[in-house]
Amino acid sequence: MARTFLHPDEALELVLKNSEDYGNEKISVLNCYDRVLVDDIYALNDDPPFSKSSMDGYAYKKEDENKNSYVLIEDKIIYAGLFDKIEVKSGECVKIMTGAMLPDNCDFVQRVEWTEEKKENGKTIINFTKKEMTNNVIKKGNNKKFGDKILDKKFLLPKDIAILAGFGYNDVEVKKKINVAVISTGNEIANIVDSLKEGQIYDANAPMLVSRTSALSCNSKFYGKVNDDEKEIKDMLSKAIEENDIVLISGGVSMGDFDYVHKELLELGVNQIFHGIAMKPGKPLFFGKLGKKAVFALPGNTVSSFMTFEIMVKSYILNCLGLKPENNYIKAVLADDFKRKDTERLEFVPVNLFFDETRLSVKLIKYNNSSMISSFSEANGILKIDIGVSDIAKGSIVDVRFL
Ligand code: AMP
Ligand code: MG
Repeated sequence: MARTFLHPDEALELVLKNSEDYGNEKISVLNCYDRVLVDDIYALNDDPPFSKSSMDGYAYKKEDENKNSYVLIEDKIIYAGLFDKIEVKSGECVKIMTGAMLPDNCDFVQRVEWTEEKKENGKTIINFTKKEMTNNVIKKGNNKKFGDKILDKKFLLPKDIAILAGFGYNDVEVKKKINVAVISTGNEIANIVDSLKEGQIYDANAPMLVSRTSALSCNSKFYGKVNDDEKEIKDMLSKAIEENDIVLISGGVSMGDFDYVHKELLELGVNQIFHGIAMKPGKPLFFGKLGKKAVFALPGNTVSSFMTFEIMVKSYILNCLGLKPENNYIKAVLADDFKRKDTERLEFVPVNLFFDETRLSVKLIKYNNSSMISSFSEANGILKIDIGVSDIAKGSIVDVRFL
């Protein structure tokens, strides 16, 4: 009986519907790089918390705005960090440093570079030599007010960490790292430290999947390679499922005589959500759950593994982290003719995206089949081709996304 394959959009819906919350934890802001915020973040104080000078110079009052000669208050310098009530009277100015608290009754700061100092009758007189265009004061709460939103839920980058720290966040509530096991299958898969024997290939999938998931707030471990042996596969899967939130196993999930992964997953009680989708590459993809644990069995060819990860597994992980999966495609102009015969599946093609003047354009790259790892070297995007679409002429508008 011919199998009917699920449309990738429906598969993605099932993936998202079955995602889980794997918990939160509080960690120091010093260690939160690339972790995911649980909630939006709000200002704990006004920024700046007090009105301050943005220049090294002299502070004076608004009523003196049009004067250009002032008597300096002697023996007083307002430096950053000083809290001192200083009374500045009309006609006077006081020396102030960048970041220092502006005296209550002052409104302007004249930068030191645009002043001259001279002595007159035992007093120090400051003459202004050029008119300021702004007041050189950053008013309390001018940037943000207490309670304003300062960050959306997101992966934390150094710039975001500056915001957290600047607003006094010492600890921050982030999503717990998701524990991920990566397993490779296949008698032909050689360990990277060994030299290749006849008929063997190196394992390209596991290092890719470990690094990809590590960059998505996961604790990822390579559990090793298993041969195409029912017991080996079952024992390894059982241990990996027991110890992790997500298991990614690649290879052995297709229709071959030695593809035991599907059978062993069912024997272990994994509840099949789907097996087989109308996606190219990636047709054999399996997704199942055992309680809160998720298992994705990815096709063995590396480009297939990669694409199914990008489209399905990444969406699962992002949803578990409380983030919106980025499944938005953008429009670009095809710079080459694209041809295909098989139109029964939604196809994802690794491509090179570039700007032709200001237009985002798509260059096809040498990509013979889904085992062709080297096609990745030029690829920085994915071209999506819908079911039923065959040839697409150069100059057509197509759907793409960046990798
Ligand atoms: P399978 O899905 O097990 O039939 O594998 C499909 C193809 O992918 C075969 O040519 C395998 O040799 C290859 N393959 C399977 N696993 C890996 C891997 N970890 N790294 C690179 N290629 C693989
Ligand atoms: Mg295999």
